[in-house]
Amino acid sequence: MAETKFRKTASCLCGALTVTASAQPKRVHACACLDCQRMSGGTMSYTAFFPNSAVTISGAVTAWRRTADSGRWAQSHFCPACGSRVYTTMEAFPNFTGVAVGCFADPSFEKPATLFWSSRRHDWLPKLENVESVERQ
Ligand SMILES: [Zn+2]
Ligand SMILES: [Zn+2]
Repeated sequence: MAETKFRKTASCLCGALTVTASAQPKRVHACACLDCQRMSGGTMSYTAFFPNSAVTISGAVTAWRRTADSGRWAQSHFCPACGSRVYTTMEAFPNFTGVAVGCFADPSFEKPATLFWSSRRHDWLPKLENVESVERQ
């Protein structure tokens, strides 16, 4: 398969913090756990993981680290001006940067392969077609 050139830039709402990815995401997933709902303010997080070597970050960042149920940390990175969460790093995946897909503002972005914590999915959401559903994580 010929490699298509991939280059997309994710941005916070005010535009000061950007993440440019220059390779296809290694994996894309969504998570409806209650932490992700609080963190995103939406019904689920939607994250694309890129190799760190394919990611260029520009702008000021505020980071906040939490310990996940697994006991390992996950660190969210926000724009200090507008508060948008643009990317995440995780102890469990040290070679990857998880970019919040909504920050690409690209409705054609590939769908998540997996929805974690589908047991916490909001009642009104329709069943997702062709997305692997995992009850927990
Ligand atoms: Zn901003
Ligand atoms: Zn989650």
